[in-house]
Amino acid sequence: MQGIILNIVKVKEEDLIVTVLTKKRLKTLYRFYGSRHSSINLGYMIDFVPIYSAKSSIAMLREVVQLGFSWQLIHDKLYDWQEFIKLLYKHLKDVNELDSFYFELLNESSKKLKVQNPKRVLIESYLKLLEYEGRLHLDFKCFICGEESFESSVLKRSYLLSCKECLRGFCLENDKIKELFESKSTLLFSDSEVDMLWEVLLEGL
Ligand SMILES: [Zn+2]
Repeated sequence: MQGIILNIVKVKEEDLIVTVLTKKRLKTLYRFYGSRHSSINLGYMIDFVPIYSAKSSIAMLREVVQLGFSWQLIHDKLYDWQEFIKLLYKHLKDVNELDSFYFELLNESSKKLKVQNPKRVLIESYLKLLEYEGRLHLDFKCFICGEESFESSVLKRSYLLSCKECLRGFCLENDKIKELFESKSTLLFSDSEVDMLWEVLLEGL
């Protein structure tokens, strides 16, 4: 079974509780420490076998094989990937069964990271996630006061839009926001704008 490691918690001694995103669900597994285990890390893609037993309510994580990403030794790519993974874990952690959308989204993103800027890839993936969850609003109504803003809007957490009177922050022309939300591409955005979009993304999915 394949999955992406979304969370790792150390428990007694060197044992770990590992949460893995598979196509259908978020699996929480127990991993005993052992010198022959291959190393695992947040955000890694692994192949594994979950072993269930009557004695334990949690399955054992066994036969782990790391399906490494070609870019995972490039520090800034791995760093941004892991930041996104941490946020995704917070976003999904209370859900058991999932649509394959989330796994496919990460799988696709991991392939794009090979050649593209990590922040751009992950912002674009996040826009797809928002659209999938029905949270990408293009009516330019301020989420605080409900007034429609005509020229520019402030982008807040979850890429919600507010008017400039209600909140301060990263302000973009509505035309550019429309382009971004509709194309889900950062092609027309400068690196400094991408940095700002990334900062907003880091506030939480
Ligand atoms: Zn407002």
